[in-house]
Amino acid sequence: MAMDEIVDGLSEVSCDVLVIGGGTAGPMAALKAKLKNPKANVVLLEKANVKRSGAISMGMDGLNNAVIPGYATPEQYTKEITIANDGIVDQKAVYKYAERCYSIIEELDSYGIRFLKNENGDYSVKKVHHIGTYVLPMPNGETVKKAIYRQLRRARILISNRYMATRLLTGSDGRIAGAISVNTRTAEILVIKAKAVILCMGAAGRLGLPTSGYMFGTYENAANSGDGYAMAYHAGAALANLECFQINPLIKDYNGPACAYVAGPFGAFTANNEGSRFIECDYWSGQMMLEFYNELQSGKGPVFLQLSHLHEKTIEEIESTLHKVERPTRGRFQEGRGQDYRRESIEMHISEIGFCSGHSASGVFVDEFARTTVPGLYAAGDMASVPHNYMLGAFTNGSVAGEDAMEYADNNDFAKFDAADIAKERERVLAPTKREDGIPPNQIEYKARRLVNDYLQPPKVTRKFELGQRRLAEVRDDMENHMIARNSHELLRALETQSIVDCADMAAFASLHRTESRWGLYHLRTDYPEKDNENWFCHSLLSKKNGQMTGEKREVQPYIVPIADDEKDLYDKQRIRASA
Ligand SMILES: Cc1cc2nc3c(=O)[nH]c(=O)nc-3n(C[C@H](O)[C@H](O)[C@H](O)COP(=O)(O)OP(=O)(O)OC[C@H]3O[C@@H](n4cnc5c(N)ncnc54)[C@H](O)[C@@H]3O)c2cc1C
Repeated sequence: MAMDEIVDGLSEVSCDVLVIGGGTAGPMAALKAKLKNPKANVVLLEKANVKRSGAISMGMDGLNNAVIPGYATPEQYTKEITIANDGIVDQKAVYKYAERCYSIIEELDSYGIRFLKNENGDYSVKKVHHIGTYVLPMPNGETVKKAIYRQLRRARILISNRYMATRLLTGSDGRIAGAISVNTRTAEILVIKAKAVILCMGAAGRLGLPTSGYMFGTYENAANSGDGYAMAYHAGAALANLECFQINPLIKDYNGPACAYVAGPFGAFTANNEGSRFIECDYWSGQMMLEFYNELQSGKGPVFLQLSHLHEKTIEEIESTLHKVERPTRGRFQEGRGQDYRRESIEMHISEIGFCSGHSASGVFVDEFARTTVPGLYAAGDMASVPHNYMLGAFTNGSVAGEDAMEYADNNDFAKFDAADIAKERERVLAPTKREDGIPPNQIEYKARRLVNDYLQPPKVTRKFELGQRRLAEVRDDMENHMIARNSHELLRALETQSIVDCADMAAFASLHRTESRWGLYHLRTDYPEKDNENWFCHSLLSKKNGQMTGEKREVQPYIVPIADDEKDLYDKQRIRASA
């Protein structure tokens, strides 16, 4: 049999808790669920291989948001994230993360992941955010995946690699019932019945097209094609603030972080073509991105991560992290260009758009227990709505989800679902394999993502969004009626393309729904250029109702950490003013 030959097969298994996505949040969710009830069955399903999958596959430079006693308090952190996110947060979930994340750091430390410590043996935390101090470097961050994987093996978690989840199953009573998946090497279908399901499928990182034109040259792990967002949507779960796009300041042509979080504490900073600072703080926020955009528009670009002024030894230290840990390709990229930071600073640009709560706030709506609006369905990590969560948020909320989901599974039996749903999904999945001739998925994907750049990249213009919706509907028509998959690899790409088009539709819909501007560049609408707190100081929820995409408002829950009036707009004051 040729490796990618399509095999017609269907099997069914069942478990107590099913975790989908084995990147960062997923392994932690599976581990905590199993530790809570060692007798229960926990399955961890992954599209790639859990050993090396997701955003942290090669490693990570540090924890961007560690709340460590002596440096920061949960109250301070909750305040910082509330302000950084323009006030639109449910503080309970942010606070819970802030309270729990220190114990998770200690646990990761006990797995053998080393964090930077000072001569007294205390964690050595750096300041990058506007107000507080939360960045904890990880000098051997390349071991993070391996360390977690060892824990999964010890706990005897059942790992199913190379299965791509495609749709969730829900019972007639609205509860979660399981998921349907496809083997990425054989195309065989696996149905997994579960009492509780945790979605950890990461960001929607293949939404926009990188300016390099490379489809997989994304900032995000390219396997994160937004399947989790699409699956939650089709299962009827609410998605929050999708119009709050993820847009990042990245290395031009390389599309990885430059990265001020690592280099900033050593004295590097974001500068314009004249070598001058123009923003006060390098922490990624919508307002920061807007200042970046304005600088480019004003003709003072390109924008650089300025570090050529630093001492040789300092640059060596920065290189030892940035060229080796998180993205080892970076050292090779700079070398290939003959670029030496001692002589030349790093040119940056504005990334393509995506959904990601890890860096912004766009995610499947969850409460402080990681519960979505579908009973028994949980979400954690970059695809859940807790804002600015990063890696430690994925670990921490993954563990919250794991524990709560196991409790749910202990108290609820399997939900009954309609067997016809499986047949229907099987037909949808295999449709591109049944056509004799048509358009390969990479062409449909390329077209959809080019349209996302042309029409949906901020600043958001109503007329452009409406045209974008029309063009995307034409792509959908091609996708649903003419897309072909000639082997199981193409089938995987065809399924991913369907998630990407769903996410593009949601991005357009959510952006048109919120008739104001908020979150700096993330949701800058030229037709509604002002922030409208009277009508839009709220979450916006998008969901599928009677087959239709719908939008509604959800009140921001009362704050548990009050924010003073003069603190509310601290993140708006990013631009450095020239003094007379
Ligand atoms: C380049 C880069 C640098 C970063 N640097 C830092 C940093 O220095 N510090 C920090 O704190 N944070 C950093 N982050 C953020 C951090 O890595 C993420 O917030 C975090 O890892 C997200 O975890 P996750 O579990 O949500 O997603 P991931 O870890 O990406 O896991 C998602 C998993 O789901 C799988 N999957 C997707 N679709 C399916 C499907 N249909 N079926 C089955 N499996 C599926 C994927 O293969 C993947 O393994 C960085 C992110 C990136 C991209």
